[in-house]
Amino acid sequence: MDVVVAGGGVAGLWLLNLLNAQGYNVMLLEADRIGAQQTLASQGMIHGGLKYALAGKLTRASEAISSMPERWARCLQGNGPVDLTGLEPLSPRYYMFAADSTLGQLTSFFASRALRGRIRKLDPEAYPPPFREPGFRGVVYDLHDFVVDTPALLRRLLAPVRQRVYRWQLTPEHIVADAEGVTLTLGAQVVKARQLILAAGAGTQALLNGLNVTDPVMQLRPLNQVLVRHTYPHPLYAHCLTGIRRPEPRLTITSHPDGDGWLWYLGGQLATDGAAMRSADLIDHARAELVACLPWLDWHNAEFSTLRVDRAEPAQRRGNRPDEAYAAARGPYIVTWPTKLSLAPDLGDKVLAMLAPPACPAPVDLQLPLAEIGQPPWSR
Ligand SMILES: Cc1cc2nc3c(=O)[nH]c(=O)nc-3n(C[C@H](O)[C@H](O)[C@H](O)COP(=O)(O)OP(=O)(O)OC[C@H]3O[C@@H](n4cnc5c(N)ncnc54)[C@H](O)[C@@H]3O)c2cc1C
Repeated sequence: MDVVVAGGGVAGLWLLNLLNAQGYNVMLLEADRIGAQQTLASQGMIHGGLKYALAGKLTRASEAISSMPERWARCLQGNGPVDLTGLEPLSPRYYMFAADSTLGQLTSFFASRALRGRIRKLDPEAYPPPFREPGFRGVVYDLHDFVVDTPALLRRLLAPVRQRVYRWQLTPEHIVADAEGVTLTLGAQVVKARQLILAAGAGTQALLNGLNVTDPVMQLRPLNQVLVRHTYPHPLYAHCLTGIRRPEPRLTITSHPDGDGWLWYLGGQLATDGAAMRSADLIDHARAELVACLPWLDWHNAEFSTLRVDRAEPAQRRGNRPDEAYAAARGPYIVTWPTKLSLAPDLGDKVLAMLAPPACPAPVDLQLPLAEIGQPPWSR
């Protein structure tokens, strides 16, 4: 084999598609269900980083990611290095809103030349349904971002490589490195590969430990997301900036098909702060935040639950958020963390730049079960 990938989240499947399309002979090993750790728990936003510029200036983080929606859009149209044709976004738009005129200096920043083409203030006729309700007074911006349904994304990524994605938990004991690459002992079968890509999310640190790779080191940044079931019939895809006192959206709202209705999935400050809260306290806080941010909707009968999930990333100073996707070559290993779903194209560039051209034409068929796609947390 040219490349074996360990880990079947968006990073592993994106890389598998990219390398397969470039003529590499590839396979992927997934320990459990495809996407069932971070990818299916994510909000699915393919974003250009404006939420990292809410201090009123562009930042390294906001710029490193700014071209990603455009790059994903090319993949959706069939003009990118990974073919995502047929994948319909869950929402072709993502909005930012504030009730009343609470945006202060951000109002002129959003109207500035530096942000031209990245954000647009909407006229009320163009508002999505939740802001057309009679009680809404405020401003709404269109961010030119979009939202993917993560199960549909994983199905699309799996389709071209279906027979190459096996269920197998790779452990360091299965791996022997030599001058030619790696030898993997997978039960009764032995596979030789020139390169092993570690794309196992939070599982990557255990592999690094067992392989005696001491650099890079992983960090986990915890979130406590909130799931809201309610009877309001419309979805919402928007950051709430009402009265924010620090540069992070107060609520980051996405909506996901749930029976006949929509489940609203809440992140942003709520989920960051929620990491230090007990579930019952976070639910009280989430209810109060919805009432404060969307007071014109009725939250009396809404049902809440919470979901703890860690983001797995390369360690940064003071545990900060990384700005870019991460890939580093260590002997026959390439250690990766996309750090954002949106940054998958960036990860692909970095990994491709580290690989020699394809050299192993013969595919290897393993006698292992194929891995299945997991379910998002609200369907489990
Ligand atoms: C709540 C939340 C919301 C988010 N929202 C967004 C968003 O809206 N937009 C955005 O751009 N980003 C978002 N992110 C970030 C994004 O989800 C992650 O960066 C991305 O999904 C990480 O993908 P991954 O493939 O590296 O990891 P994962 O999806 O965690 O996949 C890793 C896989 O590796 C497998 N594995 C682990 N160990 C082994 C092993 N030893 N052998 C074989 N397989 C193994 C696991 O079973 C798992 O399936 C969000 C993250 C969270 C947590």
